Amino acid sequence: MKTENNLAGSFRDFGLCDEILKGVEEAGFRAPSPIQQQAIPVIMEGRDVMARAQTGTGKTAAFGLPAMNAIVRTNGLKVLIITPTRELASQVSEELYRLGRFAGIKTVAVYGGQSINRQADMINRGAQVITATPGRLLDHLRSGRLKRFSPRIVVLDEGDEMLDMGFINDIESIFEYLPKERQTLLFSATIPGAIKSLARRILVNPVSIDVTPVEVTPSGIKQLYYVIQEREREEALVRLIDTESPQRALIFCRTKRETDRLSTTLISRGYSAKALHGDMTQVHRNEAIDAFRKGRVDLLIATDVAARGLDITDVSHVFNYHVPFDPDSYVHRIGRTGRAGKKGKAITLVTPLELKELRRIMKVSGEPLSYREIPSIREARKRYLSGIIKKLEDQPVREEAAEVLEELSETMEIHQIATKVLSMLLDRQKVSGPKRLGLNSQEVEQMLYMLKKQKTARSKRPSHQYGGRRRGYRR
Ligand code: ADP
Ligand code: MG
Repeated sequence: MKTENNLAGSFRDFGLCDEILKGVEEAGFRAPSPIQQQAIPVIMEGRDVMARAQTGTGKTAAFGLPAMNAIVRTNGLKVLIITPTRELASQVSEELYRLGRFAGIKTVAVYGGQSINRQADMINRGAQVITATPGRLLDHLRSGRLKRFSPRIVVLDEGDEMLDMGFINDIESIFEYLPKERQTLLFSATIPGAIKSLARRILVNPVSIDVTPVEVTPSGIKQLYYVIQEREREEALVRLIDTESPQRALIFCRTKRETDRLSTTLISRGYSAKALHGDMTQVHRNEAIDAFRKGRVDLLIATDVAARGLDITDVSHVFNYHVPFDPDSYVHRIGRTGRAGKKGKAITLVTPLELKELRRIMKVSGEPLSYREIPSIREARKRYLSGIIKKLEDQPVREEAAEVLEELSETMEIHQIATKVLSMLLDRQKVSGPKRLGLNSQEVEQMLYMLKKQKTARSKRPSHQYGGRRRGYRR
C-alpha cells in the first residue's frame, strides 16, 4: 500500500485519542494514506462523507479510526458498517478490532450462516462496532431482536459493489430502521449514477472526497497487452504463464463458469491453480483465498466480484483473460499488483474485436499500456531454461544429496546422472503449445492504424450521415 512519507501529516496530527493511536502504531502504519489524510479530519468534524477510492488504499482505517474515536469511552454509542460480502465483513471487522482493541472497543461481524440469536446477543450486550452484510442485518432489524439499536455512525462500504450485487433495495430498507440523527459515510471505488442518487437520499450535505485512480495506481506496474485470436486465448495465457513464471498471479475472468473451466484446464496442465467465485461455498472460498495468500497456490482465477476488496498483497502478476468491462474495473484489477513499492505486471489479452474497447479503457483511465508479441515456443523454451538455470544456481545443497550422488556414481557416470536429473526437472513442466501465437507487431500496428483512421474519418464527416447504428461501432 502506498503512503506519502513526505507528507507533513502523521496520524498524531488528527487528534485521535492515545489508545487508538496505539492501535495504529501496533498495526505498523507509519503515515496516513491519501484517502486517510483527506477523510479522517472531515469525519472527525462530524460531517457526512461520500468518498471514492480504489481498493487497497486504506479505506477501512479512513472511516474506522475517526468512527471509533467518536465512540471511545461513551456509554455504548455504536458504529454500523455495511459491507457487501461475508469476506469483507470479517476482514473489516478484524482490521477494526486490531486498530481499536487498546481503546477497549468490542467488534462483531454479522452475516448469514451463523446463529442469529448469538449475534443479536453480542450486539445487545455492548459490541460497539458492528460490521454486517445487508441481508443478515435486515433480518435482525425486521425480527426486532435488537434492543434500542440506534447507531451513531453508519458506514456504507464498497457502495458500487452493493449495487452490482443487487443490494440497493435492502440498503434502502435498512435505512428506514436507522435513526435520522446520525453521521453517514459512503465509500466506493466508483460512483455510478445509482450510487449518487442513493447518496442524495441517505447523506446530508456531504463532503465529497475523490482519490482518483490515476493518483494511486502504483508506478511500479508494467502494463502490457497481447493481441490474439479468440481460439488462441487459453494457449496464449499458458505461454505467458510459462515465460513470466509468476510468483503469484491473479487471473481475472468474466464469468463464474469461465473461472471454473480455466482453473480445471490449468490444473490438468500441471499448474497450481484455484478458482474463486461467488457460487462457491464460504468454506471453499476461504480455502482458496488462504491457499493463495500463503503461497500454496500460485494462480488464483477469479471474477471481479469475488476478488474485489479482498486484501491480497504481494501479487506479482495480474492477467486479464478478457478485456475488463470498463476503465474502473481495469484500474481496480491492476491495482492488485505493484503494491508497497514492489514491481508488478498487468497483462491483458485482447482479440482484434476487443482492441477498440481496450483503447477506450486506455484513454479514459490514462493508463499507459503497450503491446508485445507472444513469445514463440522457441523463445518460451529458452526463457524457461534460463529460469531453470537460475533456480539451479540458487538451489541450496542438501547433505543427503551428496550421499545419494556417491551411491549413484557407483553405477553411473557423473555426466549421465546430471543429464537424467535435469530431464526430470524439465519433465515436470514442459513448455508446449503452438509454435506461434497471436498477432505480430506489424499486424498490431496495422490494426491500430486502421482504428485511428476510422476515428478521424468519422469525426471529419458531418454527423447526419450516420443516422442509424453503424455495424460494429457501438456495443
Ligand atoms: P481498501 O478498503 O481501500 O481496499 P484496506 O482498508 O483494506 O483498503 O487496506 C489495505 C491494506 O493496507 C490493509 O492491509 C491495511 O492494514 C493496510 N493499510 C491501511 N492503511 C495503512 C497505512 N496508513 N499504512 C500502512 N498500511 C495501511
Ligand atoms: Mg475495503
